[in-house]
Amino acid sequence: MKAAVVRDPVDGFVDIKDVTLRPIKSGEALVDMEYCGLCHTDLHVAAGDFGEVPGRIIGHEGVGIVSQIADDVTCLKVGDRVSIAWFFSGCGHCEYCLTGREALCRNVKNSGFTVDGAMAQQCIVDAAYAVKVPEGLDPIEATSLTCAGVTTYKALKVGETKPGQWVEVVGAGGLGNLAVQYAKNVFGAHVIAVDGNDDKLAAAKENGADILINRHDSDVGQQIQEKVGGVHNSIVTAVTTDAFKQSVDALRPDGRLVAVALPSGAMELNIAKTVLDGIQVVGSLVGTRTDLAETFQFGAEGKVHPIVQTCRLDDINDIIKEMKSNSIVGRMVVDFTKE
Ligand SMILES: [Zn+2]
Ligand SMILES: [Zn+2]
Repeated sequence: MKAAVVRDPVDGFVDIKDVTLRPIKSGEALVDMEYCGLCHTDLHVAAGDFGEVPGRIIGHEGVGIVSQIADDVTCLKVGDRVSIAWFFSGCGHCEYCLTGREALCRNVKNSGFTVDGAMAQQCIVDAAYAVKVPEGLDPIEATSLTCAGVTTYKALKVGETKPGQWVEVVGAGGLGNLAVQYAKNVFGAHVIAVDGNDDKLAAAKENGADILINRHDSDVGQQIQEKVGGVHNSIVTAVTTDAFKQSVDALRPDGRLVAVALPSGAMELNIAKTVLDGIQVVGSLVGTRTDLAETFQFGAEGKVHPIVQTCRLDDINDIIKEMKSNSIVGRMVVDFTKE
């Protein structure tokens, strides 16, 4: 079968190779891939940024149909449509796995990085961890919900967002765009979108953002304090440390900053503001299987729509180049039904 594998030597791109998967083992299932989105995380893997894995099949925004299950698998059946997410599996028995925080498992496996991923015609999954894609959800849109969707939905949960509250979404790209939709259409919140790009702000407006602010303004926090009295919850998806400082200034007392983006370096946190305003700063990483199932269901109900377009597997290195130059709006999704 055809698969996109990290090059050897590692150079930021992939080779399309003919790969033979091993037979499935106890607890596993084989999935015939239909679609797989290409994510910036895949680019980091291809570049060796998290450690070099030459030969690894990339891909963690996969959707496909189960074509084979091991004898002991009872949670899936042949013909089920399932997803392959970055959170491939946890150990199943640690403190985090046992208390609904499995994404924090220290022995986590990640699709397309520590195990072979979904950017291939077929993928082996741990059946207990392959979340089903519900009826009524477009499988192409489901690929983005597998990654950006669940990440932003989970961040809003971590922020304890409630109906009627104000949420600031910082960064209106792939993650932010979905954060706006989940905040507005699922959590019933009011949304302020902050970005430096006018096209992305216009897209946020179309998706329901109530207030738009350019992040290059010198007084972003002050504008938000004046307009709405500060936000209850700020979801930071912009990959810049400045965005984190601006977001602290935008919080109202008892507000929560939820860190999602991963710029390198440290964030500046005013201690007086933290103490006197009782603010909280918390990180949020992808989501659990249950979070993903919920994320999918809201998609199936039509409450959120990621921006996606399909492409061919053979075009993948051209797409990597375009992603590096930031010239793609929305997510490129490889269509394996045409391979
Ligand atoms: Zn991703
Ligand atoms: Zn664990």
